Amino acid sequence: MILVSACLCGINCKYNGGNNLNSKILELYNKGKLIPICPEQLGGLPTPRAPREIINGNGLDVLEGKAKILDKDKKIDNTKEFIRGAQNALKISKALNIKKAILKQRSPSCGFGQIYDGSFSGRIIKGNGVTAELLHRNGIQILTEEDF
Ligand code: SF4
Repeated sequence: MILVSACLCGINCKYNGGNNLNSKILELYNKGKLIPICPEQLGGLPTPRAPREIINGNGLDVLEGKAKILDKDKKIDNTKEFIRGAQNALKISKALNIKKAILKQRSPSCGFGQIYDGSFSGRIIKGNGVTAELLHRNGIQILTEEDF
C-alpha cells in the first residue's frame, strides 16, 4: 500500500476546506492502492484553518527545534500540531508497513523538495515539509503529484 496526501484524492482537508484533486492519483485511490492521510488534521488542526508556513527554515529545522510554523500575522504557533501530525503519519506508515508515499508538493507538511518560503507570497524554496521530512528520514520513498 502507498500513503497519499488525502487532498490529492479529492478529500476536502485543505486549509480552505477544498482539495487538490489529481485525476491520476484518484484512479489509484479508486483501485484501492492508496491510504489517504492529512497530517495537519492528524495533528489536531481543524478544517478549514488559516494557512501556515514554515518560518526561517524547512521541515528538518522544525523537527530539530530550529524553526517554527506560524500564521501570516506570526501570532499563532502550530509547530507542535505539525510535528504531532508528522509523528502520527509515521505511526500509520509503520503499522501498515508503508514503503512509499505520494505527497502534495510545496505544503509545509507534505511538500517534498520544494516548500513555500514563509513569506506567504507564493515564493518557493528548496526543502521538505515536516511530514515529508520525517517519512523520508525513516526510509519511505516520497513521490509528489508532479511525478504523475
Ligand atoms: S497537510 Fe497535506 S494532506 Fe493535508 S491538506 Fe495539506 S497538503 Fe493536503
